[in-house]
Amino acid sequence: MIIGGLQKFSLIDYPGKISAILFTRGCNFRCPYCHNPELVDPQQYAEPWQEEEFWAFLQSRTQKLDAVVVTGGEPTLQEDLQPFLEKIRKMGFLIKLDTNGSNPDVLKDLLSANLVDYIAMDIKAPLEKYSEVTKVPVDKPDIEKSIELIKQSTVDHEFRTTIARNILSREDIVNIAKMLQGEKLYILQRCVPTKILDPLFLAQFEPYTHEELEQIANLTENYVLQCLVR
Ligand code: SF4
Repeated sequence: MIIGGLQKFSLIDYPGKISAILFTRGCNFRCPYCHNPELVDPQQYAEPWQEEEFWAFLQSRTQKLDAVVVTGGEPTLQEDLQPFLEKIRKMGFLIKLDTNGSNPDVLKDLLSANLVDYIAMDIKAPLEKYSEVTKVPVDKPDIEKSIELIKQSTVDHEFRTTIARNILSREDIVNIAKMLQGEKLYILQRCVPTKILDPLFLAQFEPYTHEELEQIANLTENYVLQCLVR
């Protein structure tokens, strides 16, 4: 496991739980608005954490934390993700996994092994715009498979999309919501480009207003039960 960072305490990343957040290093996407460039761009990689430090930290937090959020980068790229999560589980913590959905086979194994208690999958765009938004070739059937796996699972989950006018149109969001037909929760995340992967993105950045975001959320109501703006 290549650990790129650790946030020792969070009240907001796992709904209703007190968690620590472990950031894995490395990602197969290059979303220009990514706010973790040090986990994505090899030229900006910092020294990784030693695993032993993480386990010692976690041991000191039994009875104090409910959960560990494993995020990235893209955690499913880590070859030892499953045994790593098994070890967290054995220590008594709930596990939330954040993923970009590009590795449905890994996701399937983790779900089969009952190693995840909450999944948050980023949906970057309607399928036809995936590569345009992520700046890499994307295997679209893999994205579809991950969405279906999560939809069909009994694990608590959310789908979420980072949104700005220069990335996605209203129609794009409606098309994503159509892919999520019948889902309980879809989250629109405002793009807040402070520290980002591609500085050129700032020159093109056009946010939606709060009112526009609420209107866009309303456009999804025929497809998902609840659409929240964050
Ligand atoms: S936003 Fe997520 S999927 Fe996109 S480059 Fe950053 S870590 Fe990878």
